[in-house]
Amino acid sequence: MRTKLAVLLVFLLVASGGFAQSLKPLKGISILLDPGHGGADPGAVGPTGLKESVVNLRVARYLRDLLQADGADVLMTRDSDVYLSLAERVALAQEHKPDLFVSIHHNASLKPRESNRSEIYYNAIDRGVSQKIGNSMMSELAKWGFGEESIIVPAGFFVLRNNPSPSVLTEGGYISIPKIEQELKTGKSLTNQAQALRLAIRETFKEGVLRVKFIVSEEPIKIDTPFFNLIFTANRPIDKVIARIMPERASGFGFDSLPSVGSTYRLYNTEPLASGNYEIQLTFTGRDGSISARTLLRLQVNLPVANSAVVPIAPFIPEGYKGRFPVRVILRDDMKRLNNRSIPVSLLYGKNSASIADTSEKGDSTLYLDLAGDESDPLNVKLFADGQMISETSIRVRPTTSRFVLGRLTDPHGNGIVNAKVLYGVDSRAITGPEGFFFVEYPMIYGNMKLEIVAPLGYENSEYWVRTKGEPVVLLSVAVNPISDRLLAKRIAIMAPLSFDNLIRKLVKPLMSAGAEVVRLNFPEHQSRPEYQSVLEANLAENLDMLLSFKREISGAIEVRHYHRGGRGKLLADALKFSLAAETPPINIKTCAGSDYEISHTGVTAVVIAFPEQMPPDYPEKLVAHLIQVLKTGF
Ligand SMILES: [Zn+2]
Repeated sequence: MRTKLAVLLVFLLVASGGFAQSLKPLKGISILLDPGHGGADPGAVGPTGLKESVVNLRVARYLRDLLQADGADVLMTRDSDVYLSLAERVALAQEHKPDLFVSIHHNASLKPRESNRSEIYYNAIDRGVSQKIGNSMMSELAKWGFGEESIIVPAGFFVLRNNPSPSVLTEGGYISIPKIEQELKTGKSLTNQAQALRLAIRETFKEGVLRVKFIVSEEPIKIDTPFFNLIFTANRPIDKVIARIMPERASGFGFDSLPSVGSTYRLYNTEPLASGNYEIQLTFTGRDGSISARTLLRLQVNLPVANSAVVPIAPFIPEGYKGRFPVRVILRDDMKRLNNRSIPVSLLYGKNSASIADTSEKGDSTLYLDLAGDESDPLNVKLFADGQMISETSIRVRPTTSRFVLGRLTDPHGNGIVNAKVLYGVDSRAITGPEGFFFVEYPMIYGNMKLEIVAPLGYENSEYWVRTKGEPVVLLSVAVNPISDRLLAKRIAIMAPLSFDNLIRKLVKPLMSAGAEVVRLNFPEHQSRPEYQSVLEANLAENLDMLLSFKREISGAIEVRHYHRGGRGKLLADALKFSLAAETPPINIKTCAGSDYEISHTGVTAVVIAFPEQMPPDYPEKLVAHLIQVLKTGF
């Protein structure tokens, strides 16, 4: 009887649990809905004036009601027609850390487009919940009639990339297609879209959410050994962990369950970590198929300094020299790797002289000895870190019989330039080292001496006369100018089919010698839409300044296309047009707003240069020459 009752009770509990779940399948799950655009920013506008911002908000409200009916906690970034910046939208996600972030949009195409389709973009660095929900939304939207050729694309849009939560952005159709615009004015299409998204969310979270919490007392987590053990708890049994460490390096991670305490685990690494700052991205899957959101852990590894060197910039100190004398301080940990953290060190030398400074985070810093001019040979330099002496170096102090030039090559802002050649005398040369320091020595008979500076990429070569005023030791600072301020350290991405290789080479070389970093994006021509891959790479690239896209088309004129709202892309296109018109005979190009995928789906200035099949053969090269000039001098 007792046994029977117990069985019955268990049955009832299971049944009622199951019943409650089917009524409120999203209970305990928090969702932040983000209706795109709003206020002064209407987003895309349909042929009869329907604003994307209005449609987005209506879909979001329907979706909110449906998700709330399913038991979810739903928040909205906006619930009225107001403007919100992208950063404000992300800030809300950062504040609430929802289980899911959905940004709702509708698309537009500037070129006439017949067939409708939906597009789902998911956070490209999250192959966990973001990707899973993206797939599920795409198939649900297709079922509900939102275009058969709907697509899912990993993307790096601002609201996705900077989002701490699993995040997707939906483009529920093309508002620019007259028929679709009409449909989007009626409730039916909007509620259907909301239904499709709701079912996709239900499907993804049908196993509930796997929640993982690390027990850490501080962030970043500081450790002083190459291995770590981190304790975390989970609300259900864990099957697998996917981990990635940035900066990327050989790594391995494992976890085990702590036997005495049910849902507590230990995460450990199997490859040793050198000193430095790391970010570990973790996604867990539960034994029941649930997936956790991405967890980010910041880790600071501080291994003791085990090995160090103090290297003078010049091979000796000229006797009687007064002033700052640079030395390189190199610190390594006991894994013989550069110690990538800043630590206070002191250099003790001569009679009670000391320099106290912090090393840079590169493990290789330039510090200075302040010399009084009475140092005797050899000068002993002791380096102290972490309260211990870690190295001792002797630097020769010698009378100079020749001229001794201790120089530093910098840009106009005073930043040292490394790897420049300094040519002097008949055929002598020096190379600038860390922070731009160099050293040259030449016979005393020369009063003045010419230095020829062969600067690295991005800077102009120049000449510099050393005026000695009869002194044996000269300390000097030489500044060189960048070839183009506009291009120095700029990152430019190029996407083009292979047939443009020769032309692209003619573009890339001068851009790089002017100091730009040029990234050639993959353009997998065997795929049906190779631009998706290029744009994904562009969106994931750090700090890209511009994207240039080259293509060939059946048309009459060279077309340079830019983003329809204008901005830098339009300025560049116009400047190029103006510049080419000055050729003799003039080369006429057409500039216009473009609907190319790379223009509307990248966050950077994107310009498309489309060549017609038929044109004078020297036109592409001339265009590239003008393009380089325009990029160099500004637009
Ligand atoms: Zn939009």
